[in-house]
Parts: sequence; C-alpha cells; structure tokens
Amino acid sequence: MADQAAVNDDLDSIVPVGPPYQTPKGVHDILPADHEYYTYIKKVIRHRLRQAGFRRISTPIFEFTDVFQRTLGETTDVVSKEMYTFQDRKGRSLTLRPEGTAGVVRSYIQNNMQALAQPVQLYYIEPFFRYDRPQKGRYRQFWQVGVEVIGESDPALDAQVIQLALIVLKDLGIDQLFSLQLNSIGTPESRKKYVAALQDYYFGKERHLCELCQGRLQTNPLRLLDCKEEDCVTLAKLAPSFSEYLDDESKEFHADLKEFLDELGIKYVENPKLVRGLDYYAKTVFEFWDTSAGAQNAIGGGGRYDGLVELMGGPSTPAVGFAMGIERIIANMKRAKVRVPHKDEVHVFVAQLGKEAKKKCLPLIMKMREHGIKTIGALGKGSMGAQLKIADKFGAPWTVIMGLTEVREGVAIIRNMSVGTQEKVKFEDVLEKLITLIGKKNLDTYHPGELLYG
Ligand code: AMP
Repeated sequence: MADQAAVNDDLDSIVPVGPPYQTPKGVHDILPADHEYYTYIKKVIRHRLRQAGFRRISTPIFEFTDVFQRTLGETTDVVSKEMYTFQDRKGRSLTLRPEGTAGVVRSYIQNNMQALAQPVQLYYIEPFFRYDRPQKGRYRQFWQVGVEVIGESDPALDAQVIQLALIVLKDLGIDQLFSLQLNSIGTPESRKKYVAALQDYYFGKERHLCELCQGRLQTNPLRLLDCKEEDCVTLAKLAPSFSEYLDDESKEFHADLKEFLDELGIKYVENPKLVRGLDYYAKTVFEFWDTSAGAQNAIGGGGRYDGLVELMGGPSTPAVGFAMGIERIIANMKRAKVRVPHKDEVHVFVAQLGKEAKKKCLPLIMKMREHGIKTIGALGKGSMGAQLKIADKFGAPWTVIMGLTEVREGVAIIRNMSVGTQEKVKFEDVLEKLITLIGKKNLDTYHPGELLYG
C-alpha cells in the first residue's frame, strides 16, 4: 500500500494551497464582525461632524492622474511610487485616489463652491488606494475619514479641526493612546530658504545617508528629517531647525494656534522635525502619534494647505484639514479592548415543516420585521431538530415553530432557546406575544424621515 503521507505530499504539489481565488496582496474583505466597528466609527464621525456644521462629500474613486500628480508633488513617495495609475480605453491616464484632499479641492473649484458661505466645511469617509508595502496597519486599500475647511484662514480653525479629531478619538476610547505632534512648516517662501539651508548642511555628508535619502537630498530634502535609518536620524538631529527660517507671519499664526489649543486644554508636543509627506502643506502641520510606537503608527494627520486651491486653478483660498485611517483606528480600539455596541443580534428564528406552514410563516415573518423584531426566516428543509440547532447557532433567543399540526390548530409554538421551554400561542397572538417577550425598547423599529415635496 502506498505511504499515505507520500500520497498527500503528491496531492499538495498538484492542488494549490487555499482556494483558487484570493484577494490581491494588501487588500482584504471587511467581514461582518469588523463592520460592527466601521458602522460605529462612521456613526460617531457623522454625529460629531454634523454638530460642527460639516457636510459629507464623496469624490470619485478615480480621477485624472494630474489631479494628484501636480498637487501632491512629483517627488513625494505617494506620487513617485504608490499610485495605482492606469490608462483608460482612450489612452487617458487615470489614478485610483491615494488621498482625499486633492479630489475635494478639485470638486470645490469645479462646483464653484467659492460662491457658497465660507468656509466650506466638508468631510468624507471613503476608501483610498496606495501601492504601499503591505504590513500591519499598512494596506493597499484602506479607509480614511477626512475633514476639510476651505475658504478662511485663521488659527482658530486649525484649533477646531484638531479638536474635532481628538473628540472623535475620545468617543472611540483611544485618545489616550496618541500624542498630538505639532509643527509649522511656514510659507512656501520660507520653506525654500530652509530647504536651501538643509541642502547646504548635508553637502559633503551624503555618504552617511541611506540610499533613499541620498536621492531625496535632491528631490525632497525635507523628508531627510523624518527618515528612520539610524545614521540619517543622527544627522537630522544636528540639522538646522525650521524655526530659524520661519517667516514672521507663520510664527505669529503658530503662536496663536498654540494659545487656542491651550485654551481648549489640548496638549501637544512641539516637533520641529514633523514635515508630513505631501507638498501642499503650509504653516500648520500635525500628526497623532502612537505614544508607544511613534511615527510609524500615526493614526492620522493633517495641516494647512493655503496654496492648493490656487495651484489647482482656483482663486487664492486658504484651507485646513486632516485625515485619519479607519483600519488603524479599529486596530487601536481592539488593542485598548474597546468593544462597540451593535444591533446585529437577531431576536427570532422561524422554524417550520411543510409547505402549508411556510405559507403561514412568510407573511408572519414580514409582519414581525415591520414591527422591529429581527427575524431570520431561513425556511430550510431540515428536520425540526436540525432547524433548532441552526436557530441556536444564529444565537436567536426565541424560535417560532410551525408544523402541519400547528397550522391545523391555528397556533404556533414559541420556544425560549436559553431554557428550552415552549408554549403554544394562538396564531393571531404570536406577534403581540413576541413583542412582550422581547421588550418594546429592544425592537429595531425603523421610522423613515418625512419626505418633503416641492
Ligand atoms: P497620510 O495622509 O498619509 O498621513 O494618511 C493619514 C492616515 O491614513 C494615516 O495616519 C493612517 O492612519 C492612514 N493610512 C495612510 N496610509 C495607509 C495605508 N497604506 N494603510 C492603512 N492606513 C493608512
């Protein structure tokens, strides 16, 4: 007889391990258990942003590549190596959005939002795409919540935006895990002077830099400051500080912002090395860093982007915003053992035997749902015992049982699944009885809002 292990080995070499269709690297399904988190997080965000007068916007998942290429900066990591860019059938270059701000600003200009009351306050909860190296907390499709306040320049707006991010983190039970890192990267003019000073400083020290930073020295010297390689970190420590090059206007703006944050009781860490990855930032930049792991696991960040509307062809318009990663929020909620309330558990499983019982059960199921009783009407063909086992697996506290006898007698059986007792109830009383057993306050009733016409 052939050695069974050898046969299995042979089979392994023929049959691929795992199912033939799998998600590409770096993307994943959001399964129901995680949707409980997504739903709850979205609820908190919608609530808090509505309180602050924000309206929701969704821009398309793909845009013309130019929308991102010019605005984020050709030499940034996102544009140079992380965009999903492809040509459509007419040869036009399109890109899956890697971030939210550029699309929102494109929309602001295209839809003439400068004619609205300013500032325009928008938020989004959307998926984004980056050809990142997949690892924990870094995916190729991920969700972000973002807010943008466009059309007004005042450090009090920066303070409010930061406060909103913190309120959301607090509502989700994870604000204590993060520290607010704050910096000002000044106006583009002062940044130019600083970049020149940085290049001067690194001149002659190139061979001590990592390969990536040697390239960045020409293309994006600011990024040398937040490289994680040991030698680069050592060199960055002695590099000239931005504060020496900051223009007076930005200094005053930053001082005011800090005063407002103090007033709101918001703690921050002044971080002169914080630059953010994208070109469009000016003045305020901030990130929320994991207090135990630092920059790699930032949960979100943002800043002021006063020049972006103009860069994209609109009138000169100041703006400030932030984005936070929802997968990282969820990971941290799990780390902090935060569980979310959800309404997914069912109340009743309907078990039946035979076509006649099914005919009675179908309208009953609909009526129960109408009244807010969460009902699974699987209406399978198994024996009663098998159906009760399924009801148990669904975790339904009550099962309605109907067979031919019950149909003839005009009754149904209601079974208490946790104790195993059951009682016969007149068919027309089943609904009321279940409502009493479940409790009115536990019903999942739906009241559609009143529609307005005209
Ligand atoms: P960024 O604009 O790159 O700072 O992104 C803002 C936030 O989005 C980050 O702090 C993360 O929480 C999240 N994020 C960015 N890139 C990814 C990614 N590849 N996978 C998961 N989350 C991400």
